[in-house]
Amino acid sequence: MTTTYRVDLDAFSRNLHRVRAAIAPAAHMLVVKDDAYAHGLEPLVSRAFDEGVRWFGAFDVATGAAVRAVVGPEARIFVWLIGGADDLAAGVAADLDLGIGDEALLDDLAGLSDPASVARIHLKIDTGLHRNGIRPERWDEALARTAELVAQGRGVLEGIWSHISEASDADDDDARAVFLAGRDAARAAGLAPRFSHLAASAAGFARGEFREDLVRVGAFSYGIRPAGGPGEDDLGIEPIATLVATVTAVDAAGVHLDLGSLHGLPSTLAGRFDVDTPAGPRRVEAIAPASLSIAPWPEAAPGDEVVVFGRGARNSATDLAELIDTIGEEIALRVSPTVPRRYLSA
Ligand SMILES: *Cc1c(COP(=O)(O)O)cnc(C)c1O
Repeated sequence: MTTTYRVDLDAFSRNLHRVRAAIAPAAHMLVVKDDAYAHGLEPLVSRAFDEGVRWFGAFDVATGAAVRAVVGPEARIFVWLIGGADDLAAGVAADLDLGIGDEALLDDLAGLSDPASVARIHLKIDTGLHRNGIRPERWDEALARTAELVAQGRGVLEGIWSHISEASDADDDDARAVFLAGRDAARAAGLAPRFSHLAASAAGFARGEFREDLVRVGAFSYGIRPAGGPGEDDLGIEPIATLVATVTAVDAAGVHLDLGSLHGLPSTLAGRFDVDTPAGPRRVEAIAPASLSIAPWPEAAPGDEVVVFGRGARNSATDLAELIDTIGEEIALRVSPTVPRRYLSA
């Protein structure tokens, strides 16, 4: 027996239905960055497509192309990390929707060698996060540049988008005002973006006026609730994955579990949470990069299964995150790609 990450695809389906209901009539763009939040890209994308999801948020062009290989031509795939002209060309070739948050990329688009390629542009306005995005004072210029590309048949303006902090309603309201002004300016410039999108999980669920046409939902799709926020029951979501480790050694120092993980759990969690063993809950006493040591029980033996966190465990990823003032994604993404995923479905 080896350590596995067990992903319940039926629970994932239920979350997808819940997300769809919560954000309707906006459409769900399923964010699948970081290997679908470490659940495994291909099986999750495939299940989501079967459930009717037709927008995927893939982050970078390589991931976007990988999603395209899974879903075929019918879905829209949005990427927003684009490294330059070659990356752009690859994104156009893979039929991706391109999140453009940097004016230099508009010049790169104009210079693409294949004149038949028409880029689907989603122009990003920086509404205060300063991660990337076109600054409001440069926005009119970017619109003019985009209008040229459209007139030349090199691009279509499919969307206007931004990313908000979702940390305070007041900040989000300010960001939204900048966003709406930017969209008005696009319309005044003769551009007609079909899609507006600025919300992720939290604002998409809590604040109707932020839903627009698309909501880019990652965390809630995977049942990861916000730290310090509403619980899974309130949100109507459920964790979908469980990290199950096996006992590899028992000695005087305790019971040791191989996590097979390159990343390990944060060592600051040592001594702070219990895992479920065949003998009941036991405290995690030490955390090394690829292993855990837990308090012993008399019959402990190599091969015993221990439920570390997640679906059906006493702690979710977010429960652990809250112990050390971080977010659930930070824990979920610690499950290394070297841990085998097992996909369960009735
Ligand atoms: C990660 C990400 C999302 C999804 O955020 P969640 O809180 O996981 O729903 C949406 N949009 C962008 C730009 C992102 O980077």
